[in-house]
Order: sequence, then structure tokens, then C-alpha cells
Amino acid sequence: MTQLTDQQETLRASIKKGAIIGGVILGVIVAALAYWLLGGQDGMIRQGGAGLAGLLAAGGVYRKSMSSGAAGAKCAKCNAAFSISRTDKAEALVKSEARESRKELENGDTEITTWIEEIFDVDDTYTCSKCADVSHKKYQSTRKRDEKTVVKSAGKKGAVAAKANSRGKTKQSKN
Ligand SMILES: [Zn+2]
Repeated sequence: MTQLTDQQETLRASIKKGAIIGGVILGVIVAALAYWLLGGQDGMIRQGGAGLAGLLAAGGVYRKSMSSGAAGAKCAKCNAAFSISRTDKAEALVKSEARESRKELENGDTEITTWIEEIFDVDDTYTCSKCADVSHKKYQSTRKRDEKTVVKSAGKKGAVAAKANSRGKTKQSKN
């Protein structure tokens, strides 16, 4: 195997870190599940079985995410391993639309939720640290903003109760 550059090592380390975290999380879940499933067994078998199941799951996830991470980071042009990383991200707003949804509440009131739905064209730029080959990944992403919920009381016809969810429901959507 050829010597990796610092940049490649960094990328490899970050993929590895993600794989370890994923493996540990799933390992713990599987171990807990196995421990619960082995409820009828005695202590040693129960703990050993749970530990083994957890380890196997963790190892499987680790290997799987390492290989998919490595495949994704491999340059299609020069074949260098761990060389592709995202170098730029451009977003363009395509459409911004006011949306509304209504829900009938048990007491006859209507809960009205309004928000602005924005659709972006996203263009991610990936660059190979070895041969500087540039590739793009384009996709669309949808985001919600300015979400507001109002309750329209059925009692007072047409009156919109001002005590909408005052607990700032305006969520700034995550990037
Ligand atoms: Zn390359």
C-alpha cells in the first residue's frame, strides 16, 4: 500500500472515528437486546451472550462503514485512497412556498400550522487531494422555516385565538 499523505490520513481518521462511533452505538443496543432476550438464562451465559452479540454487531458495523467510507473517499480518476473530501457547498433557492396544515382538535377547535417551505438546489463540490480532480454532487433539499401554530376556536366563530403557541415555535431549520 502506498504511503498516505497527511490529508489522506486525516480523512481516513475521520471515517474511522465515524465507524467506531457507529459500531459502539449499535453494539451497545444489540448487547442490551441480547441481554434482555437471554432473560431466562443464568448470569454467565446471559452476560457472555450479550457481550458476544454486542461485539459481533459492533465489529460488523465498523467494517461495513469503514469499507463504504473508503469506497466513497476513493478517487475515481487516480484511484488514490481516502483522497476525496467536500471542499465547497453552494445552495440556490429554487422555490419558496407558504404552506398550511389544519388539524381538528378534540374540543372542536382547529389547530392551524403555517410555515414557509423552501426548496434549494444544492451543489456539493468534492476535490481529490492527490490529483485535484473535482466532482460535483447535486441534489435538492427542503427546509421549513417560520413555523407558526395558531388555534382557531370553534366557540367564537372566526375568531383566531391569539394565544397561539407563544413558546417561540419559529424553528430555524438545520443546515
Ligand atoms: Zn484523484
